[in-house]
Amino acid sequence: MNKERKLIIAGNWKMNKTVAEALDLVNGLKRELANVKEVDIVVCPPFTALSEVSKEILNTNLRLGAQNMSEQNMGAFTGEIAAGMLKEFSVRYVILGHSERRQYQKETDELIARKALAVHAAALKPIVCVGETLAERESGLTEKIVEQQVRGSLAGLSQEQMEETILAYEPVWAIGTGRNATSPQAQEVHAFIRHTLNQMFDETIAKRARIQYGGSVKPSNARDLMSQPDVDGALVGGASLEVRSFSDIIKNSI
Ligand code: PEP
Repeated sequence: MNKERKLIIAGNWKMNKTVAEALDLVNGLKRELANVKEVDIVVCPPFTALSEVSKEILNTNLRLGAQNMSEQNMGAFTGEIAAGMLKEFSVRYVILGHSERRQYQKETDELIARKALAVHAAALKPIVCVGETLAERESGLTEKIVEQQVRGSLAGLSQEQMEETILAYEPVWAIGTGRNATSPQAQEVHAFIRHTLNQMFDETIAKRARIQYGGSVKPSNARDLMSQPDVDGALVGGASLEVRSFSDIIKNSI
């Protein structure tokens, strides 16, 4: 597939996989995906598996991501993980503002923006998630909500920082439900996000920004979604937990 921007496909393992299971999965991915150069491939295991997975993917085309990070550098923040700790394991990407964290941990756009700045201060790359709920879509509020989240979560980023930021459009109603956004629905919101980036930053930044789609991506719908002009990759939950489905998503996207 000839894309304007290099695709980036990331697997968000969420709260799944022991260390042994994580190693099994990355070993399989290493075998299946060794020859893929056209896509940036990222795996985001739970914190407990980062150390071992990091060693296992050394000198491969797989890159490591974390699922969250504190906006603080160190100190009395029980249960939190700082950028410096992630860097010990060669983490390159950090998912921020996933809808599950917005919902269960009550993360706000303001907090996500502070985290994004901390991610950049550590020279890591944030994957910033945005997306509307079903009720918001059905009330015709998709653009309003997505714009609010994009503006709020990226507030304060410089042009240079935005160049190193990835966005993920993840309609909440499509996450883990088996009901993906149709390709035209995804394209419409991705184009809108790019338009918002143009207003917030400039045309060059908007053109260069990579925007992933997330929400029930599977081998059977990956090609169609990735072929949309403003869809530059995927953030994959459930289907990233198996070697076959995650590698087929990547192979079908090329
Ligand atoms: C996600 O949680 O980021 C996600 C997209 O999940 P799923 O692929 O399972 O819908």
